[in-house]
Parts: sequence; structure tokens; C-alpha cells
Amino acid sequence: MTLLQILKNIVRKHSIHVCYVNTGSCNGCDIEILACLSPRYDIEQYGIYVHNNPREADIILVTGTMSAQWIDKLPDIWDKVPEPKAVIVIGNCPISGCAFDRPGALIDPPVSKHIPVSAVVPGCPPRPTEIISTILNSADILFENYETKTERKP
Ligand code: SF4
Repeated sequence: MTLLQILKNIVRKHSIHVCYVNTGSCNGCDIEILACLSPRYDIEQYGIYVHNNPREADIILVTGTMSAQWIDKLPDIWDKVPEPKAVIVIGNCPISGCAFDRPGALIDPPVSKHIPVSAVVPGCPPRPTEIISTILNSADILFENYETKTERKP
């Protein structure tokens, strides 16, 4: 591995842009994501920057049950994210619909049916420390030697 590749690996793993999408939750998981930004958990100390621009994101965090109005919108957002990219679902709602999985509910979980999911953080809601450690672990896998992994073979 060249020095340039080593430097790229280090820098990318410490500069992770996260876009956050709520597809219809009770806001419990969203409050835990917001808690990650608080001084107690201070997510930015790890180089993780949370915003809502998919065109600048590396990782998308998805909360909620995948309600009907998100079925077309979420794949659109996923298409706008540049490579390398990953999706992490937060909480039980995007996995199973959780408390909202009832007859007649206009939801279509799991999120993995609509876009490729790299990691899940189960819980109702999960703790901020679990969210942060999953983002860091995913970034390690996502960015490690990215160019080498995607090099075209002759
Ligand atoms: S997993 Fe639980 S806390 Fe999170 S959005 Fe669903 S019902 Fe709310």
C-alpha cells in the first residue's frame, strides 16, 4: 500500500458526512440521533458531521416505518448520494414496522426492500453510543482502500 493510500484511508475515516432521513417514526429514534450531537456524546469529535444534503453524504441514517409517501422518495435520495455510500437503519421501525405494524397501516417495511442496507441498529429506540459505534464501524469498511476495491480489471 502506498503512503497516499494510507493517508486517504486515515482522512476519509475521520471525515464522515451523514444525511439523516425520517420515513415516518414516532420521533423516539430521532431524539437519540439528536442526542448524538449533544455535548455528552459529541458525535463531531469523531469527525462525523450530520446534515441533510444527500449529494454530500457518505452514509444515510434512516429512521421510521417506510410510510407510503417515502416509497418513491427514499430510492431517489439514495440515487443522489455519491459513491462510496452506505445506509444504516436506526431502530426497530425500519426493520419490522415495530409498534406501527398493524392491519391497514400505510407502511412498507423493511427499508432493505427499497434500498440496500449495510448495517442495522436495533432497539426502540437504540442508544446514542450504539448509533455512533455503528457509523464508525461502517466507515471503516466503506472507506478502507476504496480505490483498490473499485479498480476496473482489464
Ligand atoms: S423504533 Fe421505537 S422509538 Fe424508534 S421510531 Fe420506532 S417506535 Fe419510535
